[in-house]
Amino acid sequence: MYDYHVHSNYSDGEFMGSMLRAAADAGLDGVGFADHCNVSEREGPRRAKKRLGFNLDATYERRRDAIADLRADYDIRVFDAVEMDYHPADEAEIRAFLAEADFGYAVGSVHELRGVNVHRDYFADLPESERAAAVDEYFDRVVALVESELFDVAAHLDIVERNPALRGHATADHYEAVAAALADSSTVPELNAGRVDREYGEFHPNAEFLSVLADHDVAVTVGSDAHTPNSLRERIPLLRDRLAAAGVDTATL
Ligand SMILES: [Zn+2]
Ligand SMILES: [Zn+2]
Repeated sequence: MYDYHVHSNYSDGEFMGSMLRAAADAGLDGVGFADHCNVSEREGPRRAKKRLGFNLDATYERRRDAIADLRADYDIRVFDAVEMDYHPADEAEIRAFLAEADFGYAVGSVHELRGVNVHRDYFADLPESERAAAVDEYFDRVVALVESELFDVAAHLDIVERNPALRGHATADHYEAVAAALADSSTVPELNAGRVDREYGEFHPNAEFLSVLADHDVAVTVGSDAHTPNSLRERIPLLRDRLAAAGVDTATL
């Protein structure tokens, strides 16, 4: 099994060496570093990136050298990848950067909705109808991400479920729209374990969404979305069990 979505200290995770040790301990055959990257020219994301301090667009060559060096020490495949923030306004910048950086593969993510991260409390202050509208906008954006054909993998398809204020507004129509777009695309969704051991306690996509994908013969990649060695060790067996039970095919990149 390959885990195509882990983080390192090149974004908001831990050292690559300790992540690789954990990947080997978990019995993985391969692991991909998909560190966060945002290349938007818009003011909000530029300020956010400055405050966070990690800029994979500025450091990917250094990380690439480090990955090449680490490969000698670990008996598993190691992929040089990226988790790119997607917004329709940023497509030109994303396309140019991905062409220049030439990663092993690119994971695309919708993290931003209404100018804020989907995790934010901002949504708890909205009336119910506005929360539902925000979730509509989110799924429109996921369809746009898939249709852009910019990415190999579409990350955590129902990430809005992580936010209790947005949870429960996703509908079968949303799932159908995303599944139909994926069925027509070379972009593959992932089975993401990023909140399986946290408050939300479910995989992305959830069981209903995953069965809609299976109905459309859409295969998935595996992504622990681990930021620490311990979460990687804990999530891989959970992902194995979920995949075995789900009846979806796995894709390799
Ligand atoms: Zn993400
Ligand atoms: Zn991630």
